[in-house]
Amino acid sequence: MTDERNETSPAPEGPVRAVSLLSGGLDSILATRVVQDQGVEVLALHFITPFFGGHKRGREAEVEAFFREKYGLNARVVDVSDEYMDVLANPRYGYGKNFNPCIDCKIFLVRKALEIMRQEGARFLITGEVLGQRPMSQRRDAMNAVARQSGARDIILRPLSAQLMPITAPERHGWVDRKRLFGFRGRSRKPQMELAERLGITEYPSPAGGCYLTDPTLANRVRRYFEEVPADERSSEDVRLLLAGRPFRLPGGSWLTLGRNQGENRAVAGMARPGDRFLKAREVPGPLGLVRLRTPDDLPLAAGVLLRYCPKAGPEHEVGVGPAPDDLPESVRAARAAEEQIEAWRF
Ligand code: SF4
Repeated sequence: MTDERNETSPAPEGPVRAVSLLSGGLDSILATRVVQDQGVEVLALHFITPFFGGHKRGREAEVEAFFREKYGLNARVVDVSDEYMDVLANPRYGYGKNFNPCIDCKIFLVRKALEIMRQEGARFLITGEVLGQRPMSQRRDAMNAVARQSGARDIILRPLSAQLMPITAPERHGWVDRKRLFGFRGRSRKPQMELAERLGITEYPSPAGGCYLTDPTLANRVRRYFEEVPADERSSEDVRLLLAGRPFRLPGGSWLTLGRNQGENRAVAGMARPGDRFLKAREVPGPLGLVRLRTPDDLPLAAGVLLRYCPKAGPEHEVGVGPAPDDLPESVRAARAAEEQIEAWRF
């Protein structure tokens, strides 16, 4: 969809409002602050999916408070998990080195931000992109494609590289002062670090990481999921299970994931949806499992897989089953799964 109105609309009345894409990395924090410090009211959108920021689901207020207290930003966490599944399935601009559809990802997030911008009566959109910083998504042609394909056109402002780019609507209308924006280019982080210091920002996340789609192991799991699971059966909730702990797909199509340590057990505990069951071996140490059953026949198989990771369990052992990690009223007696089964079902 394109929006020709951007070029021709008269400047609206009232306070100048904008939205920004706040990934949480330093660039997006700086871009938001630079515009905010010019007197613009900025709503900073922190999008989450199973692939980035997924662990923040359910902790939205805490995350928003963090951005407010640490960086003085008015942030909103927005979960776009379900819609993002379509972006991943068939990206027009393809994937990067792993399963990361960076250009389509940006187009999608900018489109979502535009929707929110209009709902909020905001006038333009800010991103923390820096020209030439990333090989795929921050080349000039890719940045132009994002502006064009998202429909944002000239209401998308990249404050960190704005002085190297054509003038945008917010600059033309005088909502922001182009002279107080920047002309950063390339992979060096030095100018951003200096700007951060000037703005009193001393702690920020490292630039690498944050997106599972760029992690070779996790990206492969997601790729395999998209290759093997038909489109009408895919769900962002199932993908979430795949990305936590040790995942298995059982013969009846059920998903099982096992925590590999205390941290993962906690993550697994937070992923249950209605109908899911937790598993834990009775009276011996071992992982917490979460099974999303497609057929009851998979329940003893899931218990058998779990027993494989309980070194003190016998070849047959009782496994507690229930709706919460500390509420396992049912029991299933299962045989420990053989290595060939484990390998065949491992996802
Ligand atoms: S690294 Fe991940 S979050 Fe970032 S643009 Fe690429 S796909 Fe999107």
